Amino acid sequence: MRLGNNILFNAFRSISSILSEQQRKKAIVILFLSLINALNDILGLSLIAALVAIVAKQDLLDQTEILVQIKESIGYTDNFKFTLLLSVVVLFLTVIKNVISQFIVYIQAKFAFDVSQELSLKQYQYFFRMGYLFIKNVDSGKKTYSAIDVPYQFGNYYLLQLTVFVTEALVSVIIVLGIFIWKADIGLLLIFIMAPSVLIFYAFTKRKMQKFGDERNKLYPRSHFVLLETLTGFADIQLSNTQQRYQDAFGKIRRRINDIDARVVGIYQKLPQKFNEIIMSGGIVIILAAYYWIGGNKENVIILLGSFGIAAFRIVPSLNRMMNALLNVKNLSYVPSELIHLKENLTKFENARQMHISNALELKNISYSYPERKSTLDGINLKIQKGEFVGIVGESGSGKSTLLNVMLRFLIPDSGELTVDGQSIEETNSQSYQKMLAYVQQDVFIKEGTIRENIAFGFDNSEVNEGRILEIVKQTQLESLIAMFPEGLDHLLTEKGENLSGGQKQRIAIARSLYKDSDIFIFDEPTSALDPETEKTISELIAGLTNLHKTIIIVAHRVSTLARADRIVVMENGTISRTISYNELLQHKNEYETE
Ligand code: ADP
Ligand code: MG
Repeated sequence: MRLGNNILFNAFRSISSILSEQQRKKAIVILFLSLINALNDILGLSLIAALVAIVAKQDLLDQTEILVQIKESIGYTDNFKFTLLLSVVVLFLTVIKNVISQFIVYIQAKFAFDVSQELSLKQYQYFFRMGYLFIKNVDSGKKTYSAIDVPYQFGNYYLLQLTVFVTEALVSVIIVLGIFIWKADIGLLLIFIMAPSVLIFYAFTKRKMQKFGDERNKLYPRSHFVLLETLTGFADIQLSNTQQRYQDAFGKIRRRINDIDARVVGIYQKLPQKFNEIIMSGGIVIILAAYYWIGGNKENVIILLGSFGIAAFRIVPSLNRMMNALLNVKNLSYVPSELIHLKENLTKFENARQMHISNALELKNISYSYPERKSTLDGINLKIQKGEFVGIVGESGSGKSTLLNVMLRFLIPDSGELTVDGQSIEETNSQSYQKMLAYVQQDVFIKEGTIRENIAFGFDNSEVNEGRILEIVKQTQLESLIAMFPEGLDHLLTEKGENLSGGQKQRIAIARSLYKDSDIFIFDEPTSALDPETEKTISELIAGLTNLHKTIIIVAHRVSTLARADRIVVMENGTISRTISYNELLQHKNEYETE
């Protein structure tokens, strides 16, 4: 059969690269079970049809040899009583058939959901593998879509529809063979009428189905995106009075998605059934017309028509399901390409041992460029001693944050080396290295949970050292915050810490890094959103970290934040142009304190 050759080939190839070996084996079992189920259905229908025929035509009991034999062997003479017995047997078989069928249906559904769930997890794990740039540069709507929606579509629709297609194709072949054995001329007639019409039908609908699918694939992540952007940008949207624009955008996308779905479900998925019914009626017209023009025995024609009707009645339901499934697979043909095709298992994160610094952190001749961009860092050399306080200043866009991200090893330099006490930081030891780093940005991450959980971030509640927490609370001047709540440290913070001030969030971030026992504190403009008074206390807190032998690297655009820095590095166009003291910085205050 040439029908859908290409699409099926692609489908099976991508499935085999997406499913794990175990899933592939299961898929074959599922396919086999589906086939049993389909045959089971045909058998069930045939049993009922046979019973009805026997009830209607009791003579059959005396004419069909096997029935006569059974009747005799159990010693029944009364045909009606025997019919009753047969109906009980059919009832019994129907119960068995339905129990088996229910069981198979459950196994199929379980498999589909398992595949969805495993893929969803794999997509999610993939984010960690892809790392910083992926998280920063791929839009959040797309990420939500790829971790939640696409895996679901794959397991619960794509895979299932493909199974239906294969099963029904096999069933159709079996039925057609059966018809051939029964009456070869009817088989030929059926194929002569069905094959061209099915091919033409498919040719006309497949493109539309694929187009709908592709459009949906673009719209769906967009709708997530608008939603997520609304959540993060709520204040700005409200203040710029652009709520209507967001509502319109969201409404437009959802409307179009529903429009497509309505057409797919309401038209295209129903078309095969309608189409096949029409073609079969057309078949009758053809037979009659042939008789009318070519002539022949009238009785033969009536028998032919009867047989054609019976054959059509058997094949059409399978054909409907098969065509429908194929169209659905076409509609979802974007799904496999949206999933990662990874043969190897994803990284399992071992509990890395924290590294400690005893001498110096060094960047040697480091260069970095973002994908498809010109060089952002160009030959950076910087050696920072343990316990040193180094400030970084420079114009916006000069590469300060990028430099910090290289130090954090969120970005892997194109060339050059990052070392701690002379030991090179590579992929193998990067997790141990990162464990000793603290990173505090203007935007502090607050997780939904208690203040204690936010300080002892990443630790199990059971292993939290209360004494240390209290000590750190004191060091970071968080006591007054905690005193505000009756539950104290157990006070629940909301997602993103919306109910905290900027200064309080900074303190929690520093407390978190202290609890983790970080050696190196990396700050990226932590105080830029704070009022001068709070900025001063946070700056003092940061400077105080040197008393705890912490190494401090801080990008600041308020000069006063760097008052106690040992030295200040000036960045210009991705290079370090100078190293100056705080006093020199003060003399050029206006140059560096740019907003
Ligand atoms: P600074 O922190 O000094 O203001 P950055 O290091 O953030 O500067 O940016 C340096 C350059 O790198 C800028 O030109 C910026 O547009 C570019 N850049 C920053 N982040 C990314 C990113 N995630 N993807 C691509 N380019 C980026
Ligand atoms: Mg920056």
